[in-house]
Amino acid sequence: MGEDMHRRRLFVTGGGSGIGRAVARLFAERGWQVGLADIDEAGLVAVQRELPAGRASTHVMDVRDRAQWAAALADFAPDGRIDVVFNNAGIAASGGFADADPSALERCIAINFTGVVHGAHAAHRYLKATPGSCLLNTASAAGIYGTAGAAIYSATKFAVRGLTEALDGEWRADGIKVRSLMPSFIDTPLLDALVPGTNANVRERVAAAGLEFTPVERVAEAAWAAVQGDMVHTVVGKTAERMKFAARWMPEKLRRQMGRGV
Ligand code: NAD
Repeated sequence: MGEDMHRRRLFVTGGGSGIGRAVARLFAERGWQVGLADIDEAGLVAVQRELPAGRASTHVMDVRDRAQWAAALADFAPDGRIDVVFNNAGIAASGGFADADPSALERCIAINFTGVVHGAHAAHRYLKATPGSCLLNTASAAGIYGTAGAAIYSATKFAVRGLTEALDGEWRADGIKVRSLMPSFIDTPLLDALVPGTNANVRERVAAAGLEFTPVERVAEAAWAAVQGDMVHTVVGKTAERMKFAARWMPEKLRRQMGRGV
C-alpha cells in the first residue's frame, strides 16, 4: 500500500480495448498505477487480468455522464492526485453525411467530444493538485484535414484538437500539460465498424485504398513520449505524417483527394 501511494497514476477511458488497453499496459509495465475506465465491463476485466497483479483498478462508466466521471475519478484517486488523465474512449462514424441517421451523428458527438469535455472538466482539480501532470486526448489524423466520408467523426476530432490547444494555454499556469495524439489507421476493433450503406467495414475500406495499419504498440509509445515531451500534438502512422505535411504545404492537393473520396 505504501508503495502504491507513490506510484504515478494514469486514468484511461476506452481502457477495455485497443489504444487504451495498449497504453495502460505500457504504463503499468513501467511502474504506473492504472485506472481502467470503459462502458464495456467484460473488456475492463480482461485487460485488468493482463496487467501486473494489483496494478489496475476498473471503473465501469459512460464518458457522456458527468456524475459517472466524478465518481470514477474519486474512486481511483481518493487523495485527489492523478498524474495523467487519458481521454481516449471514442467510436467510429463513417459513411455519407447527408444519408446518416441523425441519432448516430449525435452519438458520435456525445462520445467523441462531449465525453472529452466532461473528462477534462472533471480531471482539472486532480491534475492541478499533481506536479508534472498531463491531460492527454485522443484526436486523430481525421483532425488534420476535414475527412470526406467521415465528416462528423472528423469534426469531433477537430474539436478535440481545438480543446487541447486552448487548454494547453489556459492550464499552463496550473502546471498542467495538455496533449493530443493524432493517429491514422491503428489496428484495433474500432476498424471493425461497418460503413453504413456498404457491406464493408472500415478495415476493409482502408485496405482497399492501399493505406497502412499501424500497430497499436506504436500509439502506446507515442502516448508515453507525449506525456513526457513538449509537443502539443503527436501524429502516429504514415498516413497521419503525410496528411500533416500535405495540410501544411499542399492543401489544394488534399482537397482534391477528399473530393475523390480518397
Ligand atoms: P476500440 O474500439 O478498440 O476502443 C474504444 C473503447 O472505447 C472501447 O472499449 C469502447 O467500449 C469504449 N467506449 C465507447 N463508448 C464509450 C462510452 N460512451 N463510455 C466509455 N467508454 C466507451 O477503438 P480504439 O481504436 O482503441 O479507439 C480509441 C480512440 O482512438 C478513439 O477515440 C478513436 O477515435 C481514436 N482513434 C482510433 C484510430 C484507429 O484507427 N483505431 C485512429 C485514430 C484515432
